[in-house]
Amino acid sequence: MPYDPTIAGVVFDFDGTLTQPGALDFPAMRKEIGCPHDGDILVHLRNLPASQQARAETIIQAMEMTAAERSVPNEGAETVIRELRKRGVKLAILTRNSRAAFDCALKRFSRISAADFAIILTRDEARRDKPHPDGVVQAAVEMGVPCDKIVVVGDFSYDIEAGHAAGAATAFLPPLPSATTRIAPTVRLTRLNQLLDVFF
Ligand SMILES: [Mg+2]
Repeated sequence: MPYDPTIAGVVFDFDGTLTQPGALDFPAMRKEIGCPHDGDILVHLRNLPASQQARAETIIQAMEMTAAERSVPNEGAETVIRELRKRGVKLAILTRNSRAAFDCALKRFSRISAADFAIILTRDEARRDKPHPDGVVQAAVEMGVPCDKIVVVGDFSYDIEAGHAAGAATAFLPPLPSATTRIAPTVRLTRLNQLLDVFF
């Protein structure tokens, strides 16, 4: 595995990365709003006719809140964040989830808080959602770390695509051993705490 001691910032995806995977049921969300099985839920939502949009948004938000209420910190997530903070690494969160659901899920953590992150970008704040690189670039500016000194960590292809497009290193934490990404990640993790050995 590569070792890059110059990495000075980490942009974490939230759901399925800092929380245990499986809380958000994406297939069920797609079915509820008539989004194709491989479609981007947020893009589908925004392209719906105005008459259907409010209802679909309400459904998605309700499903996100239910998932947030039963979110559980991922194995090693709190320890990794505490250790990175101790080492002076800048941290950010970039999520396609809503701010309300994120705030709710963060309450399920006991050893980390919003204050551990230079910036938290949900879809309510990010300019364009992943897989666009905008949020990664925005996080880099807030952290004061150039994109090529950042690693983007996530459990889905969009995380890796966004990081790659921004010029950052990427670490993929697959929810299942068979999971793949459209663009190859810099590293593939089996556990979150491997980050500490690979990049720092
Ligand atoms: Mg995720």
